[in-house]
Amino acid sequence: MLALSAEGILPKVDYAIFADTGWEPNAVYSHLDRLEQEVAKPAGIPILRVTSGNIRNDALDPDHRFASMPLYILNQDGKAGMTRRQCTGEYKIKPIKKQVRELLGYPYPARIPRDVFVEQWVGISTDEFHRAKDADVKYMRNRHPLIDMGWSRKDCIRYLSSLGLADTPKSSCLGCPFHGNAQWRNIRDNSPAEWADVVEFDAAIRKGNARANATGNRLLGEAFLHRSRIPLSEAPIDHVTAAEWAALQQELGAEEDAEQLEEGVTDGCSPWTCRGEIAATQDDFGLAT
Ligand code: SF4
Repeated sequence: MLALSAEGILPKVDYAIFADTGWEPNAVYSHLDRLEQEVAKPAGIPILRVTSGNIRNDALDPDHRFASMPLYILNQDGKAGMTRRQCTGEYKIKPIKKQVRELLGYPYPARIPRDVFVEQWVGISTDEFHRAKDADVKYMRNRHPLIDMGWSRKDCIRYLSSLGLADTPKSSCLGCPFHGNAQWRNIRDNSPAEWADVVEFDAAIRKGNARANATGNRLLGEAFLHRSRIPLSEAPIDHVTAAEWAALQQELGAEEDAEQLEEGVTDGCSPWTCRGEIAATQDDFGLAT
């Protein structure tokens, strides 16, 4: 959308906002720098980088309140669960709203008059139109220009390729549990330092987040980044195990889930397009039940 706006195919936006969780892959930061230099700056569109902190550091810091990631849990009784996802709200939606309020001239907690709002573009393509939602505040009105243009994911990739941006990486936290096996393999095979980083993080959160442990709210069970609930260093990211297939048969839409094992949760992490179907089976990450 930034390129479409910069080229004049879509109207020129006033700003582009990047919500930085502090733990994106290096490829995303370099790509963002490139977009800024080659696309945004020449068109006079400022890219505002906003943040609520570093999600990786916060998870491991006993002194920091932590908004939980959607981790896979193996409870003491052997039952599988997931922690509630709060990180998208904390690390993406919150800093964007804060920035928008400042742009409007009504920083929190000022009351924003009813007729003051921004038009916010969300980049959802036609193949995921079901994710298009309204914002939950009156001072933001969501538009979905790619859907209005009838563009699918393939159309977007074709357009990016025509601009020399075919290698646009997917933005998400390096260690996001929504990764599919393809993304885990990509990190392992192409970026050894980043692989070591996620393997270390996976081991560090096995017993829950540091803050919860420090305050006596121990996790009753174990937490994992990989859906198999096996430590990432040993997790079956090159093939689907018999146990995983068996679990899939019991879940809704086995076919869709099989694809998710490989490609990741399709409706993964994006402000205003959060996937609601992932049910939390434990109240809070790190909280004893
Ligand atoms: S990418 Fe994953 S871990 Fe990061 S904020 Fe989104 S859901 Fe949370």
